[in-house]
Amino acid sequence: MKIGFIGLGNMGGGMAANLAKAGHEVHAFDLSGEALAKAGEAGCHPVSDAADAVRGMEAVVTMLPAGKHVRAVYANDVVINAGPGMLVLDCSTIDVDSARDVAEMAKAKGILPVDAPVSGGIAAANGGTLTFMVGGSEEAFKRAEPILSDMGKAVIHAGDNGAGQAAKICNNMLLGASMIATCETFKMAEKLGLDLQNFYDISSKASGQNWSMTSYCPVPGIGPQSPADNGYEGGFAAALMLKDLRLAMEAAESVGAEVPMGEKAAALYAQYAEGEEQGGMDFSGIIKMLDKA
Ligand code: NAD
Repeated sequence: MKIGFIGLGNMGGGMAANLAKAGHEVHAFDLSGEALAKAGEAGCHPVSDAADAVRGMEAVVTMLPAGKHVRAVYANDVVINAGPGMLVLDCSTIDVDSARDVAEMAKAKGILPVDAPVSGGIAAANGGTLTFMVGGSEEAFKRAEPILSDMGKAVIHAGDNGAGQAAKICNNMLLGASMIATCETFKMAEKLGLDLQNFYDISSKASGQNWSMTSYCPVPGIGPQSPADNGYEGGFAAALMLKDLRLAMEAAESVGAEVPMGEKAAALYAQYAEGEEQGGMDFSGIIKMLDKA
């Protein structure tokens, strides 16, 4: 297929490369010349204008930082240059309202939109093992699925437009809260004199078991390899977790949901990512802040 790709950053660079590897003709655009050059080396056709990544394409993927970038690119480049029936897939993590607004903008022009945010970080984007949560009509999902499958290991239909973003922020609110709970539990276990490997062996087979413990343990040397074993470098940046928690808080307020644990997680990640600690550290590094406290 002829696919336009706008936003070739940490995530989009690897995703566009995987589409090219799968045999698609990928017309790739980014404001950064460096990102464009990399996409060229990875088998994409770099273009010098966002409009050239839209005109004549069968589908356009966007992978941009935040809602304001997606709104601007849709209004200025995608919607005005797209042909009727074109499929547009926004894989960025953005607020539900922006996702629904750009979908409406697209539908009004006869374009088929999906929001398809991802779970999985830069390694999964490079390796083609992302999980996509998709919001859009049945028809749009059917057309989007094979394209997303070329960049990921799982593609799940969450509901109508905006449902992909809603599923993503609900999932990440749970992840943020469960990571903090896992960190504070290990710190308390340590202070109570427990051997941490022994505690892991018990809790990972007991009712406290959760993904933050058994797939991404914040304690170095325990559980499978994780960013903790690499000085909390790489992985999923605390600043991005904070971004997702803030989106979750906005969404909770908009529907009147009570989320006390999510609120506490957002406050603690703000302290960690915006305080003296680095927002670029992996989000499991918050264990060091709890350690100091
Ligand atoms: P990034 O900042 O590395 O990449 C964004 C790219 O968009 C940059 O290269 C930038 O130049 C480009 N860009 C911005 N405005 C543009 C415009 N108007 N036209 C063309 N290009 C433009 O960000 P990222 O880490 O790749 O994340 C992208 C999205 O994926 C974000 O919404 C993020 O929350 C989400 N996400 C990231 C991760 C992760 O681990 N990095 C994981 C899951 C989801």
